[in-house]
Amino acid sequence: MSDEKTLFEQIIAGEIPSFTVYEDEHTYAFLDVNPLAPGHTLLIPKHPYERLNDMSAEEAGEVFGVLADLVPAVEAAVGADASTVAVNNGEEAGQEVPHVHWHIIPRFEDDNVGPIHRLFDGADLDDDEMSDIAAEIASGLSD
Ligand code: 5GP
Repeated sequence: MSDEKTLFEQIIAGEIPSFTVYEDEHTYAFLDVNPLAPGHTLLIPKHPYERLNDMSAEEAGEVFGVLADLVPAVEAAVGADASTVAVNNGEEAGQEVPHVHWHIIPRFEDDNVGPIHRLFDGADLDDDEMSDIAAEIASGLSD
């Protein structure tokens, strides 16, 4: 990890202004500067983990505890019907800022965006392939 502060660390430090919505010892939440919908909020761990994969379950748990409170508050603030909560986890997944962050994007009945499934063409896998993949994932968890 480089010694330079990530963009989001600069936001936490107040070196780049932001509309802060929440802060505690481990986490920070603020409005996205280019909102995809009113109330689009970003939640980050203060430690600049690049990806979710770099966090321990305990550290991720601290973020998820805040996420559970933040999501309904964001929805209520803008009168949203629902929300899309997502992480672009890695550059190939579209992550631009290398400091893991959860997008909370308010959603409305008539916003015509659809589910995130629309991003994908779908993978055509038979049962053997599905079974192999499931076993591989399970063995990765027990390592
Ligand atoms: P990513 O593509 O990495 O998942 O999302 C990065 C997000 O950070 C984008 O939605 C972008 O609008 C937001 N962002 C980038 N720079 C700034 C900034 O300086 N301030 C704030 N508040 N959001 C930013």
